[in-house]
Amino acid sequence: MSYFLHFLRLFFPKNCEACGESLLKSEEFLCTQCLYDLPRTNFHKNEDNAVNRLFYGISKIKYSTALYFFKKGSKFRTLVHKVKYNNQKELGIELGRMLGRELKSSKFDDIDLIIPVPLHPAKKIKRGYNQSELIARGLEEVTEKECRNDVLIRTIYTETQTKKSLEERRRNVDSAFKITSPDDIKGKHILLIDDVVTTGSTLASCANELLKYDDVKVSTAVIAFADS
Ligand SMILES: [Zn+2]
Repeated sequence: MSYFLHFLRLFFPKNCEACGESLLKSEEFLCTQCLYDLPRTNFHKNEDNAVNRLFYGISKIKYSTALYFFKKGSKFRTLVHKVKYNNQKELGIELGRMLGRELKSSKFDDIDLIIPVPLHPAKKIKRGYNQSELIARGLEEVTEKECRNDVLIRTIYTETQTKKSLEERRRNVDSAFKITSPDDIKGKHILLIDDVVTTGSTLASCANELLKYDDVKVSTAVIAFADS
């Protein structure tokens, strides 16, 4: 940390994004205890895992993983919310770096291209950013794999999905995505990035659009797996 940052920290101490305790000079975003407590899934070490099972019979996803479990009442639930709704862009990039460190030297190492799940342009303007792109940027930084946010686009503005049935949601998200430049994905192993996975239907729709092209493989990685 630079002298200037040390100096700033004296007057504006930073707090842990998960538990709220003040951070030590050597800590960034999360305190050492929270880093230790983070309920990691370690799904990147196990091909047959709960995220991958979401896609069985829906999409031919190669590997899937999530950085951590996202449970009700957990102090870690707030992290992805802060990125999505509270404009905490740096935290989003940092979560991407954390995910990247896990994926480095795992079977995910053979991916060629990172693609974040896109927001509809109107929604991105409204929010100011796409949280999945922030995560993808952190991942790109650590893994040094190319990241593209212009290859896969969302063409349909979906309203809030929570009040719809599973079948309605599936239909709604189907064909909501388009590939702009097929030549850029042919023969590639693509890693799709999102913040949270619940039913997996959005990731499956993106993957199915990508898998229409020659010799494309798709894997997925998210920050949090909401299993409850
Ligand atoms: Zn903490």
